[in-house]
Amino acid sequence: MKRICILGSTGSIGTQALEVIEEHSDLYEAYVLTAYNNADLVIEQARKFKPEAVVIANENNYNKVRDALADLPIKVYAGAKALCEVVQNENVDIVLASMVGFAGLEPTIAAIKAKKVIALANKETLVVAGDLITRLANEYQVPILPVDSEHSAIFQCLEPGNRIDKILLTCSGGPFRKISKEQIQHVTKSDALAHPTWNMGAKITIDSATLMNKGFEVIEAKWLFGVKPEQIQVVVHPQSVIHSAVQFEDGAVKAQLGVPDMRLPIQYAFSYPKRLTLSGERLDLFATKDLTFEAPDTDRFPCLRLAYEALHQGGNMPCIVNAANEIVNRAFIDDHIAYPRIAEIIEKTMSQIEYSTESSLEVYLETDKKARAYASSLL
Ligand code: MG
Repeated sequence: MKRICILGSTGSIGTQALEVIEEHSDLYEAYVLTAYNNADLVIEQARKFKPEAVVIANENNYNKVRDALADLPIKVYAGAKALCEVVQNENVDIVLASMVGFAGLEPTIAAIKAKKVIALANKETLVVAGDLITRLANEYQVPILPVDSEHSAIFQCLEPGNRIDKILLTCSGGPFRKISKEQIQHVTKSDALAHPTWNMGAKITIDSATLMNKGFEVIEAKWLFGVKPEQIQVVVHPQSVIHSAVQFEDGAVKAQLGVPDMRLPIQYAFSYPKRLTLSGERLDLFATKDLTFEAPDTDRFPCLRLAYEALHQGGNMPCIVNAANEIVNRAFIDDHIAYPRIAEIIEKTMSQIEYSTESSLEVYLETDKKARAYASSLL
């Protein structure tokens, strides 16, 4: 029985992870559940899965959660610090890092230092601090197993001793793939939230519409697979059947295909190197008429270009991009800014925040704070 701590159990990945745990309740136990704000759902989850502990990060919701679970032997904690503590619980085997954004960084570092297997869905952790995270994972000999569907696909293609020539990182293209540069200036939040193939949380759905999500995934791939930026090619593939592919040094290309279902990469991170049964739809190639591929357009989607620039510059630049992106993403969801301002504000923030090549947590925390404040001042 593997005991799992889910950071972000009320989000899209967290709820699907609980479905996986329920389907394989003989193998996995939801040992710790954590949520940022959604007290009602985490209470419901805790009453059903009976974890050892629950953390509600927003302290204002502590009394509500504690009172609602008072009749059960479940420990309830509150605050961001508690997240860093619960991941270290000696009975936890796997930490699923499925929080959204920069907030996932410190708990993930705490989990690595406690030598927990990391199932990583929180890509921002690697975007912000890929250097630090991979260094710590090496030092503490902790595996980081990707949960992002593309990176799980790449991971599933790899064999020991095979050298990667090129990663073909697929991208649905998002809801604005076919519209003109003129039209894209006027898209709304609800246009952006209507993702054509994947059903995800709001933050990542907006990031998918701007292609910042794909830019972050390029950075994530660099750190997870130890490749150079020029070895990562983004391939727009609107059908989302090929979840990514790897070209090896002999020219062989291996891909992983399937229906878009996040439960598979979540489950594979839990069960690796084994595969387990998974209920649900199967890929029908006869029904999958055409598979098409096109190059991404960084003219219409400047966020992808900005992410590549940040990756090339390295240091704290990806951290700056991430912080600014979290601010504009929220502002766009809240109707405070129009779509074109997203990339503009990120680019401006990149040029204004002090650049540093030092890869320490202190630098990232400081950079994040400054970049958020600056980006906010531009709203
Ligand atoms: Mg992805």
